[in-house]
Order: sequence, then structure tokens, then C-alpha cells
Amino acid sequence: MPEKKKAAPKAAAKKKPAPKKAAKPKADVRGWAPGVPKEKPKGRTYDGPLNVNAKPRRADRIFFGTGGVPHSTRPQTHPAAVRRLHELGLGVYEMEFVHGVRIREETCDEVRAAQAETGVHITAHGPYYVNLYSLEEEKVAASRKRVLDTARALAKCGGDGACFHPGFYQKRDPKEVYDFICNQIGELADILEDEGCPVRLDPETTGKGTQFGSLEEIAEMGGDLKDKNVGFTIDFAHIHARSAGAHNTYDEFGGQLELLKNKMGDGVLKTMHIHLSGIAYSDKGEAHHLELDESDMNYKDLFRALIDFGVEGRVVCESPALEYDALIMQKAYRKLNGG
Ligand SMILES: [Zn+2]
Ligand SMILES: [Zn+2]
Repeated sequence: MPEKKKAAPKAAAKKKPAPKKAAKPKADVRGWAPGVPKEKPKGRTYDGPLNVNAKPRRADRIFFGTGGVPHSTRPQTHPAAVRRLHELGLGVYEMEFVHGVRIREETCDEVRAAQAETGVHITAHGPYYVNLYSLEEEKVAASRKRVLDTARALAKCGGDGACFHPGFYQKRDPKEVYDFICNQIGELADILEDEGCPVRLDPETTGKGTQFGSLEEIAEMGGDLKDKNVGFTIDFAHIHARSAGAHNTYDEFGGQLELLKNKMGDGVLKTMHIHLSGIAYSDKGEAHHLELDESDMNYKDLFRALIDFGVEGRVVCESPALEYDALIMQKAYRKLNGG
């Protein structure tokens, strides 16, 4: 108790001279503040007017799109999603295979045709149920197959970056888990290379402390597997949530980009696979994704950092509002990028 009393004035004094407009998260219409999840928004419909963004004056270096079929797509199919995104002026479609890689050959052909026609970039998200560090051999084998199937299906669709969550620590030594997973991913990349599959494996930074995939681990792995067709997916919302609310300022975003550059070289910033959304979190990390405007995700400062570091690549919007938020992101990015 007495210690607490002593510390209080110090902290208050420290806080005062920094009146940065750190935009105090405002409570949303459901009455809870971002970062303090009570209930996931349910049954929300997104049929309001969609404003297609004006054409940029400068060529985009970062393309925006959705993780999953945009709400306004009719019918709700992969090929229609590609065309709908193009119609909206967006440039990336991440195919969600999160509940399993189930796609017919004909559908792959149709996606490929839509891709060639529109120029929309195609990526994929592998099944959630992947654990490359399982203690059961069959589970590792099944996980390996899920990652490979994601890459193979994506290649058939004319896409490139295959994102997946690598695994769980299961209370084991993180270093041991790292070595094991790194080795697995290296082997998977070799298999794909032997098959002539051009898809890059992009393990993702994850949102919970129980999941393998801190930024440091993913960056380290990118460095260790530099000679293979392995990249990474950086989910800025996950990193923000994993640290229970830190990693949300220009300097912190810059620090993350710096770390990636140091581990993997400058080129890494030119082909970035980025995920972004609003996010609700607790001290255990990610609770669920949120719409941008309902969250405290500081995406404008993130874009400032991306622009200042000369980042090129794709940003996949994973917010529940999908194309609505992707358009908000793209508009903000273009404005900050001078047009
Ligand atoms: Zn993910
Ligand atoms: Zn993500």
C-alpha cells in the first residue's frame, strides 16, 4: 500500500507533459469501450451506401482488400468476390480457407480467370486448425497437409501469399517450439518448390500469448528461412492485442518495420502481406475483431509509418465490415500518400 501511494504522484507527473492526442477510446453505441470486450456485435447487416474511393493521383504502392467474400457480393462466391472487389476499386482478395481447404477445380479456374481479367491480387488464409508443433505425429502431419493444400489451391487460383497460424506453445519452451516450427515450415517450402508451386508461405503474427507467432519470432524465422520461399503476414491488430494495447503509435509501428528490415533485409518491405482490423482485447490478448471505427486501432499512424518506410504490398481488411472498412483504409492511405 505505502509503495503504491509513493508511486502515484510520480506517474501523474510523468503523464502530464505528454498531452499527445492519444485519442482516448470512446465508448461505442453499445456502451463499451474499445479494448474491453463484452459482446461481439452480432447480426449486423452492411447494406448501407458504399462509396467507391476516388482514383488516386499517385499510383498505389499498397493495395487494399478483404479477408473473405465482401458482404455486397452477389452471389457469395470466390469468383464473384474478385469481380466485386474490382468494381469497388479495391485490389486484394484473401480467400478464407479457415475451416478447411475446400474448393473445386472449376472454382479455382473461375477465380484465376477473374484474377487475370481484373488484376486483383489473390492471397489465402489457411485453416485455423494448424499446429505444426503438436506432440502427436498425426496432428503435425495433418497440419502440414493443411498448409500445403492452402498453397496448392491458391496457386490454382492465380494467387501468391498463403497465410496461416503456425501453432501453439502448449507450455513448452518457446525456443524449442521455434526450432521445431521453423524446421517444419522450411520443409514445407521445399516440398512446394519441388512441385513448382510459386506460392510463398506467409506465417502470421498471432493475437494471443498461447499461440506461437510474436513479431520477434516471425521476423527471426523470416531471417532464418531467407533462402526459401517464406515470407510472413504481419497482423498489426494482433500485435496490438497481444501486447494488451501497446504497439499502437507511429514510433512503435516504425520499430516493428525496422525489426523486420533488420532481420530480413530491405527487400522485405516491398512485398508485405499485411492484415488489419479493429480489435477487442484483454490482458490475454485478442478477443475478437472489431469494426475500425469501434476500435482504438490507430491505423492512420500505421499508414504514416508504412508510407515513410516505403512499404509496398497488400493490406487485407479482416474487420467484420470487410469492404466497408477496406474502403475506409484505402481512402485514409491515399490521403496520407498525397492523393
Ligand atoms: Zn489469421
Ligand atoms: Zn490476421
